[in-house]
Amino acid sequence: MSDKYDLVVIGGGSGGLAHAQRAAEYGAKALVVEYGRLGGTCVNVGCVPKKVMWYTAGHMHHFAHAADYGFDLSVNGHDWRALKTARDAYIERLNGIYARNLANKGVDHVSGEGRLVDRHTVAVGDREYRTDNIVIATGGRPIVPRIHGAELGITSDDFFELEERPKRVLIAGSGYIAVELGGVFHGLGSDVEIVVRKDGVVRSFDPMLGGELLQAMRNDGISVVTGVHPAELSQTADGIVMTAEDGRHFGPVDCFLWAVGRAPNTERLDLEHAGVDVDGYGFVPVDKYQTTNVDNVFALGDVTGAVALTPVAIAAGRRLADRLYGGMEGRHLNYDDVPTVIFSHPPMGTVGLTENQARDMYGETVRVYTSAFVPMYYALGAKKGRTHMKLIVVGDEERVVGCHVIGDGADEMLQGFAVALKMGATKRDFDDTVAIHPTSAEEFLTMR
Ligand SMILES: Cc1cc2nc3c(=O)[nH]c(=O)nc-3n(C[C@H](O)[C@H](O)[C@H](O)COP(=O)(O)OP(=O)(O)OC[C@H]3O[C@@H](n4cnc5c(N)ncnc54)[C@H](O)[C@@H]3O)c2cc1C
Repeated sequence: MSDKYDLVVIGGGSGGLAHAQRAAEYGAKALVVEYGRLGGTCVNVGCVPKKVMWYTAGHMHHFAHAADYGFDLSVNGHDWRALKTARDAYIERLNGIYARNLANKGVDHVSGEGRLVDRHTVAVGDREYRTDNIVIATGGRPIVPRIHGAELGITSDDFFELEERPKRVLIAGSGYIAVELGGVFHGLGSDVEIVVRKDGVVRSFDPMLGGELLQAMRNDGISVVTGVHPAELSQTADGIVMTAEDGRHFGPVDCFLWAVGRAPNTERLDLEHAGVDVDGYGFVPVDKYQTTNVDNVFALGDVTGAVALTPVAIAAGRRLADRLYGGMEGRHLNYDDVPTVIFSHPPMGTVGLTENQARDMYGETVRVYTSAFVPMYYALGAKKGRTHMKLIVVGDEERVVGCHVIGDGADEMLQGFAVALKMGATKRDFDDTVAIHPTSAEEFLTMR
């Protein structure tokens, strides 16, 4: 372990690891400081264990339709504890792989809490490391509102610690974490109620997606109550009760989950010792090159308040390394047209502009194509799922600027369309592409 580095990265999550490893590939001497488990939010309490749970709940969906395909199936229960053990073991293997990858690339790793001493020094405990560059990649954590009894609720981090499935669940929040975890609980048999402050779910996406998801969740038996502002949680003999500001009571439930947003991990970094600014929410503002207001201190990933997605943090980290150590002057991440999937039931995918954004930017020249259909999967049974798609195009050439879908398979559908959109594909290009049949995705090519 050295005392002098080319770069010290605080935070061994998606972005920090990607940056340090790419920098090391260029020959830079890098140190990663991480106080938790390597891999950060995504690997330990985010994308990865969440997707395992989504697959788990997905099994129940297929069991429910198995009889349509001639199976005589009886499901005798689900062992949540056994699943957790297997999931934890998988994550532990990933933690080990991350540690080995760092070692193989010659990146040093120290366990502990990093903080800034000055613009060229990071301290971990009583040890100080001098460095040319500092990279803040400390991510975020779930917000728990400051209301009476709030601590009775769990967060998404705690969700992954649950040893058994709670029977009755109340979730506060309307974003993707609320609908994803709500879908998992419900899929595995819990009674789920979701309370949202405004009038819908996943409201930052195209309204078609939130509207269809809301309907699908309600059809499935998830209760979604709008216009609820939590005021207090209390423990009763029969479970946790949430009281809203307007006096309504929700519950009692066995588990109350806060899914009301995430805050950046910056308060304990002593950023002011290096003169690094934060905004009113604690995020670290950066320019398009990930540079903070101090020219040798950079920030990337969730801590910057950018689109909070793993591939975004990784892409920003790698491009920063390309620029600083790989001789690629001007290289930076373009944050436009980032595709994303919500692992709800059914899943949804989105890339590009929402219809409202497109109309604000392009006015009258916007044209919208939609499609709604029952996928072939449901052809043989009485219970039907549905898929909805929307294609947003602009101008005489009908350039595609938005592509949105909710329905089975949406999670694996949009990656390729995101490439097309990024390359400036037009509706004509979509029409001229031969479809893959029989799929749901082919409907994107046949809209009229
Ligand atoms: C429930 C959930 C589901 C998600 N699902 C998806 C998904 O499906 N797809 C997707 O793309 N994204 C998903 N995300 C978001 C994704 O996890 C984040 O966008 C991503 O992890 C951000 O990477 P990061 O490097 O910025 O921060 P993180 O991965 O959060 O890493 C930051 C690291 O810094 C460490 N740290 C913080 N402060 C210090 C300090 N002072 N000293 C040392 N170490 C410190 C933390 O322990 C952490 O390991 C999900 C998030 C959650 C919570």
